[in-house]
Amino acid sequence: CGIVGYVGEQPALDVVLSGLRRLEYRGYDSAGVAVQTPEGDLAVAKKAGKLANLEALLAESPLAAGTVGIGHTRWATHGGPTDANAHPHVGGAGRVAVVHNGIIENFARLREELTEHGQVLLSETDTEVVAHLLAEAVDAQRAGGAELDLAEAMRAVCRQLEGAFTLVAEHADAPGVVVAARRNSPLVVGVGQGENFLASDVAAFIEHTREAIELGQDQVVELRRDGVTITDFHGKPGDFREYHVDWDA
Ligand code: GLU
Repeated sequence: CGIVGYVGEQPALDVVLSGLRRLEYRGYDSAGVAVQTPEGDLAVAKKAGKLANLEALLAESPLAAGTVGIGHTRWATHGGPTDANAHPHVGGAGRVAVVHNGIIENFARLREELTEHGQVLLSETDTEVVAHLLAEAVDAQRAGGAELDLAEAMRAVCRQLEGAFTLVAEHADAPGVVVAARRNSPLVVGVGQGENFLASDVAAFIEHTREAIELGQDQVVELRRDGVTITDFHGKPGDFREYHVDWDA
């Protein structure tokens, strides 16, 4: 339902949680975050219910500090509003995390294929297949002797997906990078100085920057502290519109 991504110098958890709070008006049943830790792992926390429940969990067991993170408020479509079904979903033994708005229509077939590969799915969501597919795409790059390219992995995964989706993902082995994709579901980039933002709605980052990029259909974004790269699902130059947000949040 609500999506936030951040790459910068501020504590990612604070930026992501405040962004999610600004999207709360849309309604949701669960919330979660994933942050890249200084040790090179991903730290994930998620909880059914209000953001206050997630914050209580974080107060009990704080996440390691990090300046790259993603977050989600869920409006369940596939699988009930439980902790396990809350986003982020992880794949690749916890090395990749993904959040998703929308519906992956062909998830059942993808799920079957993943299960045949020996992947163990932990939730009832349509979303979780994306985490495993991304992990497999990254593994395939490495097996082929290529450098890890998370945006390229996202493009390869999106070419297999049917339905409507905004996806935002990060990989523990791609420090400083968040990637995202959209089809028939909103995604905007917020361009800061030494920091960049992703969200399902500009309201999430308007306290940080008013320079925004609206993405066309079927686009993939790679977000780093110092730049934003946009392509279509085949790696061709992106379709986007830069604009200034001049309304008051
Ligand atoms: N279809 C996904 C789920 O049920 C995402 C729902 C949403 O847009 O929040 O988990």
